[in-house]
Amino acid sequence: MLLVASAGLSLACGGSDPVAGLTLAPHTSQIEVRFTSALTPAQQNLVAVAVDKWSRALSKDLGEFSLSTPANQCFTGQPRLNETHRNLLLFISVADIDGPAGAVAFTQVCSLSNRDTLPIVSHIRLDRADLDSMEARGVLQGVITHEMAHALGFNPQSYATKGLAGGTSDPFFEGAAARAEFAKHGAWYTGVTVPLENRSGLGPNDPHWRLVVFGDELMVSTVSRDFKSPLSTITLGFFQDIGYDVDFSVADPYEVTPLFGGDRRLPEGSLRNDFVMRTPPTFVTPLVAR
Ligand SMILES: [Zn+2]
Repeated sequence: MLLVASAGLSLACGGSDPVAGLTLAPHTSQIEVRFTSALTPAQQNLVAVAVDKWSRALSKDLGEFSLSTPANQCFTGQPRLNETHRNLLLFISVADIDGPAGAVAFTQVCSLSNRDTLPIVSHIRLDRADLDSMEARGVLQGVITHEMAHALGFNPQSYATKGLAGGTSDPFFEGAAARAEFAKHGAWYTGVTVPLENRSGLGPNDPHWRLVVFGDELMVSTVSRDFKSPLSTITLGFFQDIGYDVDFSVADPYEVTPLFGGDRRLPEGSLRNDFVMRTPPTFVTPLVAR
């Protein structure tokens, strides 16, 4: 079991992003998590590990936002909001999704910044029926870290609106940093890069790397018992492409290794369709336009 030193969630140094005449607080939390359901200390620790990893990997001062919404506006169980908040506010809840197996979690973005289409309020729901078994099988850490990526912007509301994806039956993400990292680690692949999942029929709106190309990587849409769900430099390249400052040294070792022949794994949980699009999205404006 991984442990983090502090009881609270880690704080990241926000991107300094200096602008003449404007003084920013030197340290800001990149992600603030609020639990709206009871999680065990061990499960909360897995969340803290994911927050720590993403906070070391990504930084950006998204700005300060006035959040004023009634309860249950975005998801059932959402508390009323009436506050000023900087960067991402992330709710995590546990509730029934579809019983054992099948979908194990999903993420939705409640509010996006209208400055850069990056999420300001997001929600991760973990399926109550799968929570204990995911923890027992050792895949819960990967699932939480995966969902947190959707909550931070690995979703079409953040990348498709920037014109960074294309294709229909052969969808791809075409951000320059992700493509450059893919070329370093998957030079054998001759298709259009970076290949997004093509089994769902969502085209470039399926926010997952293509399983048959990537194999075991954090942002494919399958979890298996022996998956390690490494965070690749390709995924970090994605986040650079959508606007974050990225520390590539936080990446796990990874080479693009497809699931062929004897390497094929039996899926034990699905993350397909685990990004739930809210339409129309709610846009919020930074309090100080920059
Ligand atoms: Zn997913």
